[in-house]
Amino acid sequence: MTRIIKNTTTTAQHDWPEDVFIQGGEHGVVFGGPDGAYQTAFFEAFPTGTFLRGEGSTLAEAEDKCWTQYQTFTACDGKGPHGPFERRNYTNGAGFCTRCGIWMSKVFEPLPEDSGPRSRRLVERVFVDQDPEAIGEVINAVAHASELPRGGSGK
Ligand SMILES: [Zn+2]
Repeated sequence: MTRIIKNTTTTAQHDWPEDVFIQGGEHGVVFGGPDGAYQTAFFEAFPTGTFLRGEGSTLAEAEDKCWTQYQTFTACDGKGPHGPFERRNYTNGAGFCTRCGIWMSKVFEPLPEDSGPRSRRLVERVFVDQDPEAIGEVINAVAHASELPRGGSGK
């Protein structure tokens, strides 16, 4: 069973189940790395309840990393439902399975928004707050994506 990775012309090398949406790109932009924004090849998979992402210097390497996470995720599932979960710094109901360590959505009741100060991530500042400064940062980085340093080897 061969599948084309959505948004690419590349065939997936691993046997992803039909119901798991997969997408990728050769030139993703990542914000908030230790040295600022960087570009990377990336591969993302969306099994029910979670979102897995691998990064690498090539799309194939990124898919390999994502596939490894998927194997961890499904192996944990095979021993019964995921959990127990811990919230870490998520207040929106998402948390991490303490057995496989994978992030999952909708595993807790969301906490009230004012439950304490926290630094909002760039993605929240753009899509939730519509903060003009955050939007400017994104537009600038995307416009100059080809000039960003290559990253992704460390993940
Ligand atoms: Zn798990």
